[in-house]
Amino acid sequence: MTHRKSTTVLVAGGAGFLGSHLCDALLARGDRVIALDSFLTGRRRNLRHLERDPRFDLVEHDVVRPLPAALRRQTFDRVYNLACAASPPHYQADPEHTLLTSVLGTRHLLLAAEASGARFFQASTSEVYGDPEVHPQPEGYWGHVNPTGPRACYDEGKRAGETLCYDYARAGRVAVRVARIFNTYGPRMRADDGRVVSNVVCQALAGDAITVYGDGSQTRSFCYVADLIEGIIRLSLHEAPGLAVSPVNLGNPVELTVSDLVARVLAMTGSASPVVTRPLPTDDPRRRRPDIARAKELLGWSPAVPLEQGLKATILWFADEAEDGPRGAVVSEERRAALV
Ligand code: NAD
Ligand code: UDP
Repeated sequence: MTHRKSTTVLVAGGAGFLGSHLCDALLARGDRVIALDSFLTGRRRNLRHLERDPRFDLVEHDVVRPLPAALRRQTFDRVYNLACAASPPHYQADPEHTLLTSVLGTRHLLLAAEASGARFFQASTSEVYGDPEVHPQPEGYWGHVNPTGPRACYDEGKRAGETLCYDYARAGRVAVRVARIFNTYGPRMRADDGRVVSNVVCQALAGDAITVYGDGSQTRSFCYVADLIEGIIRLSLHEAPGLAVSPVNLGNPVELTVSDLVARVLAMTGSASPVVTRPLPTDDPRRRRPDIARAKELLGWSPAVPLEQGLKATILWFADEAEDGPRGAVVSEERRAALV
């Protein structure tokens, strides 16, 4: 039996939806994990099951500020940057902080990686493509972002974050891996996250009106969290000559309209919730679908979990486990049997 040398990794944003799943996956592969989070949108309860694990630590810190001295003394093998609110209502609540999180936060984490000689993983986003004029979106597309609109604090912050990563790599300072993550969903999303999957599932379970923004014809492509985390791990461990690997789209190419998503969730939950329309938010992208040819070729990765299966897991999680889940949510035994 061969034993791998234990590695130490830093996960910024580790208490969030994706970050907490990433901590689980890294611990499962034998890494020692230090999670760092300001709890802006993340929660301690996402990591509660790890509290007694001697290979896990959690540090409260806002990455807009330089890392605490204790962390600067640590040596890391890899640094993962997932710190940034990802839901439009949350990232727009304090746009200046969102922008600084992606710019100053990425810089502080790159400096930590440089000091350790660690590899750096950046959670970028499909939002770098803005409201895309090219469909589906390959990594070579430079995007169509409104730099002054309400989404800009996030989109432009993430674009600048990528810029910093490649500047550090070009200067020979840090080896970087950048994932452009497309809409991802699953257990541990917050009921009040504000993104479409958690909103629609919680509204359906509670019997509340389902809010469709605009006419519901806009499209997204939804990736289940387990698939996404597998892609992040593969990309972050990918060996390549030179310090930089081009950005890699990670997402599920199955595209559907928001109305389609609502119809599926209503059918699966058996909910009688009415559907109401709300104004389409400013600069809401019309279409979004990843071209994942690069991820397939480079990493041998493509999503394995079909939407129905991922939605089942998400619906049952909100019905059974989410402490802030919809009050009065009941999934009947009959419906549950049909779901699983
Ligand atoms: P999330 O809001 O659940 O997680 C973000 C985490 O970062 C939270 O724990 C939050 O408290 C923390 N955080 C925010 N600002 C911080 C700061 N200044 N200092 C320290 N911690 C801070 O969102 P998520 O869906 O888990 O997203 C994780 C990352 O993946 C984000 O960087 C996001 O931009 C990116 N991403 C996610 C998606 C998606 O669909 N989930 C899509 C594209 C990109
Ligand atoms: N959306 C919606 N109802 C909601 C929340 C979102 O119709 O309750 C729409 C939103 O306008 C967008 C799509 O669903 O067109 C995806 O929104 P989300 O915030 O999940 O992600 P993003 O817009 O960042 O891709």
